[in-house]
Amino acid sequence: LFIEKLVTKIWEPVTKEYLEAYNESMKFSAEELFELHSKNRMRYYQYPGVNMNMLPSAGCPYRFKNGVLAGCSMCDYQSEQAKAQGSLLALRKKNPELYAKAIKTAFQNSRGIGAEPNLFELISGYDTLDANEFPDEVYDQLYSNNELFKGKPFKYIVETRASSINSGKLNLLKSKLGNRLRVSIEFGVEVGDQWIRNHWLNKDILDKEIIDAVACIHEVGYKATGDVIIGIPGLTEQQSIKLFVDTVTWLDSLGIDDIVSLPLNRKEYTLQGLMYKQLKDNPRLKEVGIAQEEHTGLPWLFTVVEALYQAITARPELAKKINIAQLSSSLNSVKNDICYNQSRDCKCVENITSALQQFHIKKDISILEDLRNSFEKDQCYLEYKELLAKQENSGDIPETISLIGVEMAKILWPGDEDILNELEYECNNKGEGSVT
Ligand code: SF4
Ligand SMILES: [Zn+2]
Repeated sequence: LFIEKLVTKIWEPVTKEYLEAYNESMKFSAEELFELHSKNRMRYYQYPGVNMNMLPSAGCPYRFKNGVLAGCSMCDYQSEQAKAQGSLLALRKKNPELYAKAIKTAFQNSRGIGAEPNLFELISGYDTLDANEFPDEVYDQLYSNNELFKGKPFKYIVETRASSINSGKLNLLKSKLGNRLRVSIEFGVEVGDQWIRNHWLNKDILDKEIIDAVACIHEVGYKATGDVIIGIPGLTEQQSIKLFVDTVTWLDSLGIDDIVSLPLNRKEYTLQGLMYKQLKDNPRLKEVGIAQEEHTGLPWLFTVVEALYQAITARPELAKKINIAQLSSSLNSVKNDICYNQSRDCKCVENITSALQQFHIKKDISILEDLRNSFEKDQCYLEYKELLAKQENSGDIPETISLIGVEMAKILWPGDEDILNELEYECNNKGEGSVT
């Protein structure tokens, strides 16, 4: 796939760092490596009612395939941890038990031994159900003696990929966590359109895997949570709004229990990061409002409100299922920029963000209605409408993607006809059978 080659290219420098750390660490004994990692502290974020415990690990197994880092194009939860992860990969290969112990020690170094639990505790890596990242030894270390917390949190949340969810894995998890625990399994849907998910986000997840995952999670008595992006990298505001609405209504029809909506943020080693770095002043993309200088690669906050509003108007029962994350750049493990309107410091950004936070808590659509009614008076909204008009000229979704892909290919692979042909072929054959 074109996108796979592109993401591999983006991650080249990080791959180098990861492999160097791995090779260097392989020279040490497992005990020496454990000693080295036993001082690590887990990254840990506190939200109201929920703590996010980002367990250290060897990294996302999906990202590291065939000896290179690639993974989902919009995701960069890893680049800043590449060295530590390369080294943990070496420890895991040498001694999975000490790898598991290093993970638990990092948790305890941050939270203390027998931590005070919050209501919800997200205890996760990248793909928790993948044995490459979390072999059995990790579960044994974390859960066998019930010693992570003083008492139990109300609910555990674990994150994984839909492709890793099956009854065998979930039952194994259940046997480790104990039968009576409430658990939510959270996984990335990102977008309901399978072609975009795979050919532009490089997710490598089929609709069928999502449908099966939800059913499987329910069979074992757990809750299913899907992550959905608001603002697909490079796509127009209107395209993104429609995709979000289609995605969450589809997920609702599958019986998903919760949806975490994530307004796209911009990190360095991502598709949107590359667009910003290389194409923010690109004349062809500026003409159609895709390149927007400083704003390139980020949706507008008006889009976030509109996407949520339209989804909940279409299906009012969605209001109680939808949560909003990534409204602040500080509660994130990797340096990032978050979405805004005309300028970052405009009053409307603050107003909308705090209203969205209110909505996240109260789940009351009138909060979104009031917000929308206030837009007409806002100078930024006029600019937004002009942008929407300009973006009308970018064509349909495969045409928009092709437009961006061609400009990127010119920079990354100048004169390479094969890669352009591959992109063109994929964009001309946007597959049938997708849900939206
Ligand atoms: S989104 Fe998830 S599966 Fe994809 S690269 Fe990031 S951590 Fe891995
Ligand atoms: Zn404004």
